[in-house]
Amino acid sequence: MNSLNLALRRRLIETIGRIAGMPEVSAIVLVGAGGVFSAGADIGEFDTQQAFVEPSIHAVMAAVESSTKPVIAGIEGLAMGGGLELAMAAHCRVAMAGSRIALPEIKLGLIPGAGGTQRLPRAIGLEAAARMICNGDPVRADAPSLAGLFDLVVEQDLLEACLGLAQRIVRDGMKASLLRDRAMPAPASPLFYQELEQRAGSKGQWPTAVNACIACLRAAEAMPVEAGLAFEREAFMKLFDSPVSGALRHAFIAERTAAKIAGLPAQTGIRPLRAAAVVGAGTMGAGIAMTFANAGIPVRLLEMKEDALERGLAVIRANYEGSVRRGKLSRADCDQRLALIRPTLSYEELRDADVVVEAVYEDMDAKAGVFRQLDTFCKPGAILASNTSTLNLDKLAAVTSRPADVVGMHFFVPANVMPLLEVVKARETSAEVLASVMKLAKRLKKTGVVSGVCDGFIGNRMIDPYLRQAYFLLEEGALPEQIDRALEAWGMAMGPFRAGDLTGLDVLWSVRKRRYVEVPGVVYSRLPDRLCELGRFGQKTGAGYYRYEPGAREGKPDDAVRALVEGYSAEIGRARRQISDEEIVSRCMLALVNEGAAILDERIAQRASDIDAVYLLGYGFPAFRGGPMYYADTLGLREVIASMARFQEQAGSDPAFWQPHRLLLELAESNGTFN
Ligand code: NAD
Repeated sequence: MNSLNLALRRRLIETIGRIAGMPEVSAIVLVGAGGVFSAGADIGEFDTQQAFVEPSIHAVMAAVESSTKPVIAGIEGLAMGGGLELAMAAHCRVAMAGSRIALPEIKLGLIPGAGGTQRLPRAIGLEAAARMICNGDPVRADAPSLAGLFDLVVEQDLLEACLGLAQRIVRDGMKASLLRDRAMPAPASPLFYQELEQRAGSKGQWPTAVNACIACLRAAEAMPVEAGLAFEREAFMKLFDSPVSGALRHAFIAERTAAKIAGLPAQTGIRPLRAAAVVGAGTMGAGIAMTFANAGIPVRLLEMKEDALERGLAVIRANYEGSVRRGKLSRADCDQRLALIRPTLSYEELRDADVVVEAVYEDMDAKAGVFRQLDTFCKPGAILASNTSTLNLDKLAAVTSRPADVVGMHFFVPANVMPLLEVVKARETSAEVLASVMKLAKRLKKTGVVSGVCDGFIGNRMIDPYLRQAYFLLEEGALPEQIDRALEAWGMAMGPFRAGDLTGLDVLWSVRKRRYVEVPGVVYSRLPDRLCELGRFGQKTGAGYYRYEPGAREGKPDDAVRALVEGYSAEIGRARRQISDEEIVSRCMLALVNEGAAILDERIAQRASDIDAVYLLGYGFPAFRGGPMYYADTLGLREVIASMARFQEQAGSDPAFWQPHRLLLELAESNGTFN
């Protein structure tokens, strides 16, 4: 990626200096090795502050701009962030037509900090620059909006084109001027900035960063370039030190770090996975089959009965057809994907599969039956995966003669959309199988996060105490809509009750019923059971914590629920009180955090940032808060414990619930953090 880390910056400075002293050289062409110009700053360096160690990117750019020999940047693959800014310091730019150009800093709550807001508008105009900086998405180099940025856009032979341009400058006296010396184009209209501000925040943009960007563009209009650059630098540093950007950077790194498998032997092999199979064509199975097809992997879809198979295929067809209708998928791609999904009723046809994902009913006997069949029919070396949410994977592996090949692939609904995949390592899962599935996750465009075996794995195990707190809050005085509103205002994509209505309250009920038996010591509010006993299972029954008009997806608060909740409080003798939104958020979040500590301590998760990644990608946790464990770190773990102690003392609380986990206590004592 040629990220501009300290080592590369040093080499660039050193090389440019050396070439300056070579009389036989009259121009410099700067291209990236490995088919990529540069993906920009090394985000990992931000945390160590190494990004700011001299020579900084500014020093490299100053060396380029002050070079007496013209510098020609040749761009292919990617030029992002600092990489693009470096190219903008060159005297000329040549790009391959298909390379992707971006200033993506906004996604980390930042603005370009190395002149992007000052040089880009001088190249492509203020409004085009503002758009590019404020949405952060890549643009093809041959896009008309980028015309002013490149001296030449070529389809091939980048280096030849760069050398040709160099010769024209050196031999033919073609003028090559720096972007900083170009006049500012026409100012943008005030209305344009206004609209930009209004849109900020609506599309995952970070309002303060958008505002800073606008301020920098105004500075570019009004100030000489040096002053504009200084203004930008100051604005960048202010954002850099903001909690929002800190959290977004953590989220960014957490999602990338998750791919690393701790303690993996270096020589671990990867199995080639060319053909897949899915057993069960229900909600999950259909989505998983689509996920394979979307990645271009042929997949057999197996069901017990013809009608179930037809139902599953109909769901898949309808889904793809919907995408075609909405213009998201071409007809040809739709046909191609459908052709990759081949239905079957016979295990014989699974012989070729390199990986099989079982997604039948959440029932040990049903799943064990499937795994015995897979053991009989699948070829040696095939990876046998289960999508189970709660069942013991070790037991499932034990019904086969090849437990080392058994692994969990826990997808989230809708499987073809959700970006998270918990990859569950059973006791005997081999390193090779684990590594192969983590690599497969990437091909499927998912972030794989390794989890050990436990009830609910990382994500659902943590959701249990979170929901228990939400139910206690109902008993004590809150209503579903208040709890949802508080958590959504805090940043969660969906509050627990709206989410429950969507998932199906019967699903959560069956998990609880199992847990009442398996872990009888844990205190649950029985209030949610009362709702289920009334047949209120959420959206699918038209009523859950909310009431749904026929066909509506948005629920309305329901007086019947209020009466049920208040009646239940009276029945258990709990005096209802006003509960603040702050308390709601704090109790629900700290419930997550304490369970996260246990998960980390038991090595179910490899690292705290993996837990954050699970919540960010699978549970609608707000990226600008970095994930539950990061959030606890930013609160300070002593503060976390103090809050838990306060909750423990409240009337009616379950004291066991608020017992801080050992790891949390230890870390707090040593002033440590989870991350
Ligand atoms: P579902 O009831 O929608 O689908 C199950 C399908 O499996 C049905 O079509 C059924 O006909 C088929 N089936 C049952 N036994 C079979 C057998 N022996 N051979 C072939 N097909 C068989 O269930 P679902 O919601 O898709 O859940 C499937 C699995 O995914 C469960 O283990 C569940 O815990 C897990 N899971 C579900 C969710 C979710 O939110 N729905 C999320 C993650 C994981």
